[in-house]
Amino acid sequence: MPEALLIIDVQNDFLPDGALAVPDGDQVIGPINALAADPRFDVVVATRDWHPADHDSFVDQGGPWPAHCVQGTPGAELSADLRREAIDAVIDTGTVRGDEGYSGFEGEELRELLRSEQVDAVTIVGLATDVCVKHTAADALREGLQVTIETAGVRGIDARDSREALRGLAESGAQVN
Ligand SMILES: [Zn+2]
Repeated sequence: MPEALLIIDVQNDFLPDGALAVPDGDQVIGPINALAADPRFDVVVATRDWHPADHDSFVDQGGPWPAHCVQGTPGAELSADLRREAIDAVIDTGTVRGDEGYSGFEGEELRELLRSEQVDAVTIVGLATDVCVKHTAADALREGLQVTIETAGVRGIDARDSREALRGLAESGAQVN
């Protein structure tokens, strides 16, 4: 049963001192690196939030978030502490103004990659639990994939929203460890 590890948005802007820092976001990196080295994963995918400077989600454009993960800026880069050699593919989301980029399945690239590898189970880690992890996991369940969330490898923006997100995903059939 081919299994993929999906590492969601472990980018500098979501880490301490970033433009949209997730509390304790850097604590996911150790657990994620350990998982990325686990031979049970046939494919390891990292996603990036990868926005144009005038993205609809930014406060300046009437959106909910401060500007973050602008294409080509240091804040948009994956953390230098991630084990890059373990990552097989990087998939960008929210790449045009109107694409919110909350789910790794927003475009077709991730779906096609998982299909080509005949993946039927995914383990999801990364940032942030209550936004992109939640949306990606919900879409993975809709795709019919077996979904595991490793809570040691996720952190959220809002603690209560994150708890609710994990509870909702578990109710929808995800394994929350
Ligand atoms: Zn974003």
